Amino acid sequence: MKKFVCLIWSIAFAMNVMGQNASTSQKKPTTIDPSLTKVEDEFMNRQSAYFLDLIEKNLHTHPPLMETPEARMLTLYMLDAVLHDKYAAYREPVQKFFHHRIDQALTEIENTKVDSGIKIWKLYNIGFIARTKSVTIAFDLVTGNTPEAIGFAIPDATMERIIKQCDVLFISHRHRDHAQIEVAQSFLDKGKVVVAPPQVWEGQEIHSRITHLKRESHTKQKLALKGGKVNLEVVNYPGHQMSSHENNVPLIYTPEGITIAHSGDQINEGKFMVDYDWIDDVHKHHQLDIFLVNNWTNDILRIAKGLNPKLIIPGHENELGHTFDDRVPYWGDEKYLGLEYTQLKQTYPVLLMVWGESFHYSK
Ligand SMILES: [Zn+2]
Repeated sequence: MKKFVCLIWSIAFAMNVMGQNASTSQKKPTTIDPSLTKVEDEFMNRQSAYFLDLIEKNLHTHPPLMETPEARMLTLYMLDAVLHDKYAAYREPVQKFFHHRIDQALTEIENTKVDSGIKIWKLYNIGFIARTKSVTIAFDLVTGNTPEAIGFAIPDATMERIIKQCDVLFISHRHRDHAQIEVAQSFLDKGKVVVAPPQVWEGQEIHSRITHLKRESHTKQKLALKGGKVNLEVVNYPGHQMSSHENNVPLIYTPEGITIAHSGDQINEGKFMVDYDWIDDVHKHHQLDIFLVNNWTNDILRIAKGLNPKLIIPGHENELGHTFDDRVPYWGDEKYLGLEYTQLKQTYPVLLMVWGESFHYSK
């Protein structure tokens, strides 16, 4: 199985960009992609704008469904192609598309009351917001602060409005595409709860204000929100992104009885397989409705069978801070990456979502 480079996400990208900056400090860059001529580079901008406009329209005509129709699938693949330009995050049409998608989600979040079931919005990377009648839960919320791609991240004012809509933030682990200190700080300053593994921002002032639930398999722990007006029951599974990174996998009982779990960047590989001790048994202890899972993890089918959810929603597609061979696309690249997407889709309902889309789930 190919070893994932997610751990070193962005390092190569940042180095590449630093190299570009060093060489361009003497000479002003005329193109976004230094390997292209001005006219070639301008073509790439025009093509991105044209395709993204088409993608935007098609996403409205073909919203997320349990069974993805071919027209929507092709739209997702077209988005993969636009975002697998090495410099996608630097291009204005991509930035505009991303911001517009998030703005649409925000307007919807600000104007949506959920009477039954659970409504889920996908934001950037594996950032999700889930709302029931009584509570709004955020997972791995980040602005898309991609290194050096100035203008890509969601503006702070937008993120502030998103945070206002949420009651709690669950952070899976310490990597920048999952955990952003300004976002956590803003939750805390508004009297909202932030849950993270002990490793996140260890040694920093913010650490003592973060809720560190026990990393313990199968045990429900109480989590009081909204000044004690709402209580969640949370099983905080002690996951890892390989041996060096603690990765919380919370399985949450909403007050309405719908359960939702988020995998963060859960992965075990090679000799480090400890987490299968709990993963394989989750379904014996808890009934899971929705599983938000990182699309690039290996043994995804085994993980899914362990949790046995009614619906799987993958995340982490096209994280632009990764080098582009490691921005796992909607089409999966599964043979090269050694994934089991096809089998997963044959075994479970898998719902593919794009930045800013929402889906309403009822039991
Ligand atoms: Zn990640």
